[in-house]
Amino acid sequence: MQKQHMQAVREPMSPGKQSGQRPRHVPQRTCLSCRTTHAKRALLRLVRTAAGRVELDPTGKRNGRGAYLCLNRNCWELALKRRSIERALRLTALHPEDRVVLEQFAQELARMPVDDAGST
Ligand SMILES: [Zn+2]
Repeated sequence: MQKQHMQAVREPMSPGKQSGQRPRHVPQRTCLSCRTTHAKRALLRLVRTAAGRVELDPTGKRNGRGAYLCLNRNCWELALKRRSIERALRLTALHPEDRVVLEQFAQELARMPVDDAGST
């Protein structure tokens, strides 16, 4: 039996376009409340649904206009108070039920141990 060598189809090298190593890119997002930039996974995404409602999007993959908030209670409360969410998601008003959901989520955050190293 003769071993056949599989020949890869060679693509012509296109100048300027190098495949292979690319720098590790961590997607960064900005909290709509405190404007701090974090790695995407350190934030929670809010998404505006087609019906104009706001929902939490822990996967960060849902379709629709999105906005990000830190997992920090202050940011949530400020965003609710300042209507930053409405502004970021281009809503005229937050649905009362959605507001309750977001307020409840903010309260959940308060119970989480916050590892605040403190900034100097
Ligand atoms: Zn924040």
